[in-house]
Amino acid sequence: MPEECIFCRIVAGDLPAQIIHREEGLIAIMDIHPVADTHALVIPERHIDDLRHLQPSDANLWLRLTMAAHKVAEDLGHPQGYRFYVSVGPGGGQTVPHLHVHVMAGPMRRLPV
Ligand code: AMP
Ligand code: ZN
Repeated sequence: MPEECIFCRIVAGDLPAQIIHREEGLIAIMDIHPVADTHALVIPERHIDDLRHLQPSDANLWLRLTMAAHKVAEDLGHPQGYRFYVSVGPGGGQTVPHLHVHVMAGPMRRLPV
């Protein structure tokens, strides 16, 4: 795990975060700079740079990440749906190089940078 990775540090408990969900292999936290009324992040515990680095053996992890996103959106009061957004690499606007799914609902101020 890259020691300087913000999300690895949050997973390890070295950096504070508002953790709203935890299950085997993944966590969900509230985004520190929300761009929508509701803005959470679902993060695999294992360091994966971005979506392009997922392996076929990660199929179950990816399914559970998506299901956790649905649960987080519901738990945060959005059973009617939400925005599921993933930035892929710097060219896709990814600023934290540890795979994460944005869960956003309600009025949006902008896209996550
Ligand atoms: P992206 O630009 O897609 O890589 O998204 C990274 C997201 O992580 C941004 O929405 C940031 O606001 C969020 N973020 C960065 N640092 C933290 C942190 N310490 N706790 C919670 N969210 C963070
Ligand atoms: Zn990491």
